[in-house]
Amino acid sequence: MRKEMYEFPLADFISEKDFKQIKKFSQDKETPFLIIDLKKIEKMYDQIIENMPFAKVHYAVKANPMDEVVVALKNKGSNFDAATVYEIDQLLRLGVEPERISYGNTIKKEKDIAYAYEKGIRLFVTDSENDLKKLAKQAPGVRVFFRVLTESDGADWPLSRKFGAHPDVIYKLILKARKLGLVPYGLSFHVGSQQRDIGQWDSAISMCKYLFDAAAEKGIELKMINLGGGFPAKYIAPAQELETYAHEIIRFLHEDFGDELPEIIIEPGRSLTADAGVIVTEVVMISQKARYNQYSWVYLDIGKFGGLIETLEESIKYPIYCEKKGYAEEVILAGPTCDSMDILYEHHKYAFPHTLKEGNRLYIFTTGAYTQSYSSVAFNGFPPLKAYII
Ligand SMILES: *Cc1c(COP(=O)(O)O)cnc(C)c1O
Repeated sequence: MRKEMYEFPLADFISEKDFKQIKKFSQDKETPFLIIDLKKIEKMYDQIIENMPFAKVHYAVKANPMDEVVVALKNKGSNFDAATVYEIDQLLRLGVEPERISYGNTIKKEKDIAYAYEKGIRLFVTDSENDLKKLAKQAPGVRVFFRVLTESDGADWPLSRKFGAHPDVIYKLILKARKLGLVPYGLSFHVGSQQRDIGQWDSAISMCKYLFDAAAEKGIELKMINLGGGFPAKYIAPAQELETYAHEIIRFLHEDFGDELPEIIIEPGRSLTADAGVIVTEVVMISQKARYNQYSWVYLDIGKFGGLIETLEESIKYPIYCEKKGYAEEVILAGPTCDSMDILYEHHKYAFPHTLKEGNRLYIFTTGAYTQSYSSVAFNGFPPLKAYII
C-alpha cells in the first residue's frame, strides 16, 4: 500500500500569525489547557450583527461562561440568554442590566422565577402549563415567549424532544397566558446546535407564522420571534458560511411575514465562541493492543471528562493538528481517565504523522464553546480544564 504523507489544512482554522502566538503563549504552560482569543469573539459578534442587522443578539451564556467573554460581549452591546439563577447572578455581578437578560430555560423552580423577577428580569420562556402558572404567580405581568418543538434533523448536536411543545399546546398556552395576566410576547425555537441544514429554519419560521395568525384571530398580537442558536462553527464536517445562513433566514422571514418583520432575537452560543478557542494537549501514551492490530491507540491528557464531552457518539469532530511530519497513520484517540467510555474517536479515524511520540503536543481547534464549562471537577483527581484569555 502506498503511504500518504500527513497533511492538515491549518489555514482553514487559524492564521499562521495567530498560531505562532498560541505556540509562544503555551510554551511554558502545562497541558491540557484552553486558550481563548477574545478578539475573535468580538469579531464574530460584529460579523453576526453585520449579517443580521435587524436581530437582537442574546448570547447563550452556557456556551462559554467565562467572565472575560461576558464582559467583552457586554461592551459590544450584546444581550444575554441565561439558563439559571446562577448565570443571572453572574451577569448582574458583571454589570449587565436586567433588561438585557432573558431567562431562557423552560425548566425552572418556582423560587428561581421569584428570584429572577426580584432581580428585574422581565422576559421569560415557557413551554408548559405548569411553568406558566408558576410564572403568573411569581413574575406577574412579565413578557413571555413560547418555545415551539422542532425536529433537530441535520444538527450535529441535537436539542430535540426535551424543549418546546407542539403548536397545539403552544396555542393554548398563549391564550392561557393572557388570562393569567402575563404578556404573550413571542415565540422561540432551536433547530439544534451546529445545524447544517438551513432549511430547518424555514419550517420553524412557517410554524411561527401559523401561530402568529392563530393568536391574532383571538386578538393577541405576538411581537417577537426568537430564532435560537444553531449557527455554525468550523469543525471537520463542512457547514455553509454565516453569511449564507443569514441570507436564507432573512428570505424565509420575508416569505412568511412580508416587509414588516416582527422583532427578531437570536441566541448564538457556539457560533460566537467556538472558533476563538484552541485546546493544547499532550500525548500521554501510544499503545498497540495486539501484535497485528491495525490501529494504535493514542491517549491524550484531555478526554470526555476534561471538556470534550461533545465527542459523545463522535457528534462533534474537532480539527486536531500535529506539527510533526511523516506518513499519515490512522489511530484511535482516547482520553486519560479510568472510564472506558472516555474514548474520543474510534469510528471516525483521525490520522497523525507516524513520527508522533508520547510527550508531543496536539492542538485542538474550534474548542471555545462547550468545553471548559463541561469539564468535570475532579474525576480521577483531574482538575477542571484551565482556560487562558489572550
Ligand atoms: C444552548 C442554547 C442556545 C445556543 O445554541 P448554539 O447552537 O450553541 O448557538 C441558544 N438558545 C437556547 C435556548 C439554548 O439552550
